[in-house]
Amino acid sequence: MAPEPRDPLDWPVTVLRHVGPERAAQLARLGIRTVGDLLRHRPRRYEDRRRVRRIGELEVGETAVVEGRVVAAGVRTFRRGRRSLAEVIIEDGSGRLHCRWWNLPYMAERFAVGQELVVWGKVRSLRPPAMDHPETELLEQGEGRTVHLHRIVPVHPATEGLSPRALRWLVWQALDRFGPAVEDPRRELMPPELPGLREAYRWLHFPDELEDAERARRRLALEEFVELQLGIQRRRRRFQRRARALPCGGDNRLIRPFLAALPFKLTEAQTRVLRELRQDLRGPHPMRRLLQGDVGCGKTVVAACCALMAVESGCEVAYMAPTEVLARQQHETLRRWFEPLGVPVELWTGSCKTDHGLFRNLPPVTVGTHALIEAGYHPERLGLVIIDEQHKFGVAQRQRLLRKGRWPHLLVMTATPIPRTLGLTLYGDLDVSVIDALPAGRGPVRTHVRTERSLPKVWDYVADRLAKGEQAYVVYPRVEESDAGSGLKAVLEEQRKLAARFAPHAVGLLHGRMSAEEKAAAIRAFREGRTRILVASSVIEVGIDVPDANLMVIENADRFGLAQLHQLRGRIGRGGRPAVCILISTARTPEARARLKVLEETTDGFRIAEADLRLRGPGELLGQAQSGLPPLRFGDLASDLDLVEQARDIAARWLDREEKKPGAGTSGG
Ligand code: ADP
Ligand code: MG
Repeated sequence: MAPEPRDPLDWPVTVLRHVGPERAAQLARLGIRTVGDLLRHRPRRYEDRRRVRRIGELEVGETAVVEGRVVAAGVRTFRRGRRSLAEVIIEDGSGRLHCRWWNLPYMAERFAVGQELVVWGKVRSLRPPAMDHPETELLEQGEGRTVHLHRIVPVHPATEGLSPRALRWLVWQALDRFGPAVEDPRRELMPPELPGLREAYRWLHFPDELEDAERARRRLALEEFVELQLGIQRRRRRFQRRARALPCGGDNRLIRPFLAALPFKLTEAQTRVLRELRQDLRGPHPMRRLLQGDVGCGKTVVAACCALMAVESGCEVAYMAPTEVLARQQHETLRRWFEPLGVPVELWTGSCKTDHGLFRNLPPVTVGTHALIEAGYHPERLGLVIIDEQHKFGVAQRQRLLRKGRWPHLLVMTATPIPRTLGLTLYGDLDVSVIDALPAGRGPVRTHVRTERSLPKVWDYVADRLAKGEQAYVVYPRVEESDAGSGLKAVLEEQRKLAARFAPHAVGLLHGRMSAEEKAAAIRAFREGRTRILVASSVIEVGIDVPDANLMVIENADRFGLAQLHQLRGRIGRGGRPAVCILISTARTPEARARLKVLEETTDGFRIAEADLRLRGPGELLGQAQSGLPPLRFGDLASDLDLVEQARDIAARWLDREEKKPGAGTSGG
């Protein structure tokens, strides 16, 4: 047998009285195996049973807790047994209360005369005193009734055979016996207004006031966030001890002519971020940085400057994009920019690999898809890895590309504004830079939410703008209608309809199942104005840049996340002319329509991302690859920013201490 763990919270639940194999199996169904699991079993809600009312003093309409002894229980049926009324009558010395349940005949069988019962519900009448469908709980002998009455009691998530009452009793026992042994080694580092761990466990289940339960939750949430931060920061410290960076700050000889030849000046935000990046590239540790900036804020040119610094320093650069279309587009942009400087720009995708090795004077910049990760690509002296639209890649893929060099610098770029709570947890390994302003002269995108009924008017409006020489995107959630009756419109079908509606204007088609060549051709035709409408699936979400398209219609808009819709509409408003995005909602509920209204109200990507985080949770916001967040029991990434920030400092101070201890320093995690 394994040796007994030191911390009693790690002991199995079977150390508790009355917990044998059967109980243990029931608890295991709730994920509870140790005493600590039990103490961390978070109540679903609380019931205020501080004031138990006398039946004789009840008032009509009040919600009350009553305790009494069962004096009668039975069922009456009506309409030849199709309807029934179960009734249980309890008495407390001041009167009798009739508890009634319609069409739940078994309720009468659950209770026997003589049993002690607590009921909780709304008083329906006084003649006789009665409650309809109250909550009930049997009190059992020997369980210590102070646990279940005369206090605020927890109601825990329960399971077959294990009632909230039984759980409450087990938790009480566990607190009684092991509460005093709870260790709280980081107490001094914690904010003084929060309870200690021992109190926190107690208040979580048996608070004196409801506010205490919330304070307990915050303390336990902080504990969770500190654990997360310790993991992140230990990894990071270890990395910094081991990794030595290649100097990649450059000497300006390429950047200067590059910036001089650009048709625009960098914005202040771009310049500031570039300074941060250059610091990193010169520094002693390899850069690990996340560059955030709304769609169209100009991340590419900043990445290009970093690439030039690396090349100036004699290092190769790998630039990974999430799709072949984007890789080709970025390859073209960078080639246009870099070729006059003599910097070779290669393409490396599944279907196309270029290599002009023989004619190189400078190290190359290789733009590609995840094909860069595979065995064929082996750069000579990889100094910098740039990953565009990071959330499409998993952390493992990022690592595999990094291993193509010896500690290359890493820049990941994303247009998904990441709420700060997630930035500090999910992306805690990365420093963050933000480009927080768009280049001047960008037309703001006006957004309108409409229902399907307005579609004819919407198409008239589109026709109007086409007549003025403009172009439009129309976006659908599906490529093909896979299950009829889903009500979701699909690209293929709608493209045919729109082609008929808007003839003689040509209507193009772009979706994820087309080959890279087909996609590139569709985008080219649209960019050159040969097609005037581009009907697309959400593949246009990332990076496609056509300045003359200033109109976008998104059907079944409810199907997309807010952050995703924001990205989609970022495709327009690039030509400096007023841009309009029309969201067609088919939602039936007011809540769903209210969700889209957020986009009418703001173009602030951070506000939108936070709304998305609140409404859909972190997994949805970041996509599958990134949802590797440990489950949080107490912490709430949508609302606990203050705790996440405190946790970061606490973890750092804790690790400082750990490192100062004699004999420590290189250990841990
Ligand atoms: P994103 O951040 O979405 O990747 P891009 O890098 O694709 O944005 O930039 C969008 C457009 O803005 C491109 O056409 C780019 O050339 C242009 N751009 C970038 N920086 C500036 C600037 N400082 N002034 C004007 N236009 C800019
Ligand atoms: Mg981009």
